[in-house]
Amino acid sequence: NEAQVRDLVESKLATIPDFPEPGVVFRDLTPVFADGPAFHALSEALTAPFAGRFDHLAGLEARGFLLAGAASALCGAGVLPIRKAGKLPRAVLREEYDLEYGTAAFEVHEGELPPGSRVLIIDDVLATGGTVEAAAALIERAGWLVAGVSVAIELPALGGRARLRDRFEVSSLLRY
Ligand code: AMP
Repeated sequence: NEAQVRDLVESKLATIPDFPEPGVVFRDLTPVFADGPAFHALSEALTAPFAGRFDHLAGLEARGFLLAGAASALCGAGVLPIRKAGKLPRAVLREEYDLEYGTAAFEVHEGELPPGSRVLIIDDVLATGGTVEAAAALIERAGWLVAGVSVAIELPALGGRARLRDRFEVSSLLRY
């Protein structure tokens, strides 16, 4: 059940204070990825709340790729990679977003999915919500629908859920 999955994932999760800079508490999922049963359980738990309500999974580069890929193998939905700018070879849509210092941009291939596809956004951590907001904007501009947002870890104090709440359903396994 969900409490067991939460305990298993939490038991593997690494927490690193002051990385990558002072004041940030970094939540590192690599020990979860390295543990077969924990990774499997997490991947299953990410899509379960949205069962029957999505057609594709969008993985956000880079850690979201691992989670979306593993979830895809378990639930059978295909993956839309939402990539950092400059990596995709065909015609793209591009959306810039703010980082703590400067900006970054995501891209997707135009026409990668059928029009109206319901896309579930998958990432490791939801903090301020800026990253997910950019991914959602891309999905909508491309003519698809955002089925929801599913993350392993949410940091509620940083306001991501509040920022997205009126527009998208947000699900998280762990909250700190
Ligand atoms: P945000 O756009 O503020 O919601 O930040 C979310 C993105 O930054 C995700 O792709 C995360 O991988 C990363 N991130 C933000 N804060 C943390 C944190 N405390 N630990 C690990 N990753 C984080």
